[in-house]
Amino acid sequence: MCEAPESAHSSALSQALRELDVILANAGVGIVFVKARRLVRCNQRYSEIYGFNSPEAAVGRSSLELYASEQEARSLGSRAYAVLSTGETFRGEQIMRRQNGELFWAHLTGRLIDPDNPADGSIWIVDDIHERKLADAALEDLSAEQQLILDHAMVGIVFLRDRRVTRVNRAFEQLFGYGPGELDGQFSRAWYLSDEDWKAAGDLCYEPLARGEAFQAEMLLGRKDGTPVWCEVRSKAIDRSDLSRGSIWITQDITARKLAEQELVHAKHQLEVLVAQRTEQLSQTVAALEQKIAEQQAAEAHIQRLAMFDGLTGLPNRHLLADRATQAIDIARRGAEPLAVLFLDLDHFKNVNDSLGHRVGDALLVQLAARLRGAVREQDTVARMGGDEFVLVLPQTDIAGAAHLAAKLMALASAPYQVEQHELTVTPSMGIAMFPTDGDDFDTLCKCADAAMYRAKKDGRNAYRFFTSEMQAQSARVLLLENALRRALHRQQLSLHYQPLFALEARPGESADGSDGGARIVGAEALLRWHHPELGWVSPAEFIPIAETSGLILPIGEWVLREALSQLRRWDDAGLPELTMAVNLSAVQFRHDDLPELVGRVLGDTGMPAERLELELTEGAAMDNPAVAITVMNELHARGVRLAIDDFGTGYSSLSHLKKFRVSKLKIDQSFVRDLTEDAEDRAIVDAVIRMAEALGLQTLAEGVETPGQLDFLRRQGCQAVQGYLLSRPLPADAFAEFVLARAMVSV
Ligand code: C2E
Ligand code: MG
Ligand code: MG
Repeated sequence: MCEAPESAHSSALSQALRELDVILANAGVGIVFVKARRLVRCNQRYSEIYGFNSPEAAVGRSSLELYASEQEARSLGSRAYAVLSTGETFRGEQIMRRQNGELFWAHLTGRLIDPDNPADGSIWIVDDIHERKLADAALEDLSAEQQLILDHAMVGIVFLRDRRVTRVNRAFEQLFGYGPGELDGQFSRAWYLSDEDWKAAGDLCYEPLARGEAFQAEMLLGRKDGTPVWCEVRSKAIDRSDLSRGSIWITQDITARKLAEQELVHAKHQLEVLVAQRTEQLSQTVAALEQKIAEQQAAEAHIQRLAMFDGLTGLPNRHLLADRATQAIDIARRGAEPLAVLFLDLDHFKNVNDSLGHRVGDALLVQLAARLRGAVREQDTVARMGGDEFVLVLPQTDIAGAAHLAAKLMALASAPYQVEQHELTVTPSMGIAMFPTDGDDFDTLCKCADAAMYRAKKDGRNAYRFFTSEMQAQSARVLLLENALRRALHRQQLSLHYQPLFALEARPGESADGSDGGARIVGAEALLRWHHPELGWVSPAEFIPIAETSGLILPIGEWVLREALSQLRRWDDAGLPELTMAVNLSAVQFRHDDLPELVGRVLGDTGMPAERLELELTEGAAMDNPAVAITVMNELHARGVRLAIDDFGTGYSSLSHLKKFRVSKLKIDQSFVRDLTEDAEDRAIVDAVIRMAEALGLQTLAEGVETPGQLDFLRRQGCQAVQGYLLSRPLPADAFAEFVLARAMVSV
């Protein structure tokens, strides 16, 4: 650059210049000396930066061409001069131009050589920062994008480094109530409620973050004003291998969700409380119900007791009896021991009730029960079946023992009873059946004992009878007849015979001479006949009770009524004198609701006037239930049908009832007529009946008149009508018609 001086001084200078040259040539930055906008000298690096072939090629060039435009060159010049002129160093970044026209960023550092003489020129150090500038710009774009994302994110995002905020978005600030930028550089402690919380969170997240995993938790954090806020927090280390580079935290307000959850928990709890309350209520209800059930069971047990024992006497009733008897029979069977079943029934007990009232009757039964109970052993059962019927079951009792007890009971039961002011006597009838001879079960033994008792009554009452094989045969026949009777109507085995009824004309003074003495046929009694192909003629006295117990009497009775009235119609048509038709009614028919309508219907069907019909009702049937009898009689009477009391004298009609009965005739039972001529007592009875009937305005008819003597007596006593073998047996319809017509001829 300049000549080397000879002196030591100049040699030191040239040494310094050489050193400077080396420095310039090897400097990493471009260095240039500019004077009056001209490049005076530059180093290698400078020429490289601007694209000159060599430093020498740059010398003399105008500095203006190193800029993008002249205008820019001048603008920088004026900016730089303002600094340089004060003697300061100018530093700045500037877009410059290479020789090939390429623009680039350069960092300029300039200084005047002599600030007092700017014309001396300036030294510039140039650094090509284009690459760095581009990278910076890219980075800036990136962070701008990031910021955009951060600022628009709906969640709070914060970057932490050493637990301090390096970056935070608006959402995060808002979430915790901070103003923009207020959290920058702050410790994350800011949004924790306490130091402990803050420390705990740090401990909790350290491990997952160090492992490179996401940390996630729900935390109760705090706003700036101290109000707690539930947050869901997710965090991840920016670089897991270097936690000091910090972490990113994404935070979301879940207070609403937490509240909802808490409310849900609360609601669930309330529900549980409610359920518990209801369960409690329910269990109380159940307890109350159980209590009720227990009470009901107690009541039922009480009823059961009532159901097992007779209310009046306290004795076992028929249910308990059946139970005990079955057990006793089982024991007897196993031990091959005898056992007796004894039926006891008071004779005509109904009279006591009817005449003295039920209270007296009941008191008597209570006394009887006590006597029976007192007469037997502990293992024996005394039961009341209802009414005046008692049944005794006697284990380990043979025939001799049973007979002995029966005799004892007979005496006990017949002994007088004191009820109030009345001294009463009743007699029992008893029937005895033996196990195992008469039957193997209680049912059979009962039937046998009942049959035996029935026999005792038939034999005149006040007696006991053992069941016998003859009774056995009897019951077998009953069964046979019942079965045969079921088919009798269909198979036309039933027919009617007619017995003439005669009116007596009183002829005082005329003696019995064997003739009928002016008796006139006024009617007929229809009497049922059954002819069975194998059994032959079966008596109504035998089959009618069977028809009654089996219920067969209803269809049979209707048939009788229809047939009898049809026959009467045919006789009318055949020119017989106008007769009355008497038809027998069973108590079963009489008790049937339908009776008055049935009678009306049959009368209508046959076209017979009601007054031509006379219904015969036995005294027993009428007295069985006088109140009902009166009603039915009234209904029949209203239809114009007449009623007669059949077999009068065998029942126990009270005069008071008789007065109320709508009957027109009493038929004096043949048992009184039979012995009229020999038996003064019967004569007195018949006489009394006739007198009483007269007093009540009733007609009398005597049944079973077989002798002129009987007829004569009856006529003299004023009996108005008779029927009997003396005058005519019951006859088939044709024979009856002939009989009537023949007598009419005789009369004429
Ligand atoms: P009952 O109504 O008292 O009929 C009179 C019974 O005495 C008849 O017996 C008759 O044949 C009989 N008899 C008539 N005159 C004499 C006589 O001079 N001496 C004797 N020893 N007997 C005489 P029968 O026909 O055997 O009837 C017996 C009972 O059967 C009747 O007694 C009546 O209670 C009942 N009976 C007959 N037919 C019917 C009917 O169609 N329905 C109902 N429910 N019972 C009837
Ligand atoms: Mg009769
Ligand atoms: Mg009779």
